[in-house]
Amino acid sequence: MQSSTVTAIVVAALSLGLASAAVHAETNGTGAQVPHALMDLSAQLPAPQAPTGMRTVYVGADLDGDGQPDIADPTGKGPRGEDAYGEGRFHARRDGGEREHEGVDYVSTPGQAVEVGHAIGHAHSLQRRYRAITDHVHLELADRRGKKLDAEKLILAKNAVFPAASAMGD
Ligand SMILES: [Zn+2]
Repeated sequence: MQSSTVTAIVVAALSLGLASAAVHAETNGTGAQVPHALMDLSAQLPAPQAPTGMRTVYVGADLDGDGQPDIADPTGKGPRGEDAYGEGRFHARRDGGEREHEGVDYVSTPGQAVEVGHAIGHAHSLQRRYRAITDHVHLELADRRGKKLDAEKLILAKNAVFPAASAMGD
């Protein structure tokens, strides 16, 4: 539910961008002739079909059986691949093999909302502390006894078809 709210906000921002571009074109154009030409063209076009796009979505497991996901990918993006600091997957090597990574790093864009079913904050850039690292949000999951769990086994990547406007959303 929360992620669809964010998508709606992004789409609204895109629409605003288009609207201001149109206003810009009109103020620099040659007056009323441009809008007239556009109206004539659109009258001859076939009915527009909603264009679609594919994208990967991350769906959290339903742990309590109520039909709703109980955990969520905090950024909506995939796990961090290998960079100079290692990999973002669960149990990846850290400190030359002395310890294991106890969470999963989800790629993030600085400033984006971070959600785990509800919004909990915004992602920050990590570049000051770890130069050239892939910006990410570290997600650690544990069971009731404190045993760390692999988030990638509980948050599954799926392909989903979206209207092109939302596919461009992020
Ligand atoms: Zn991490």
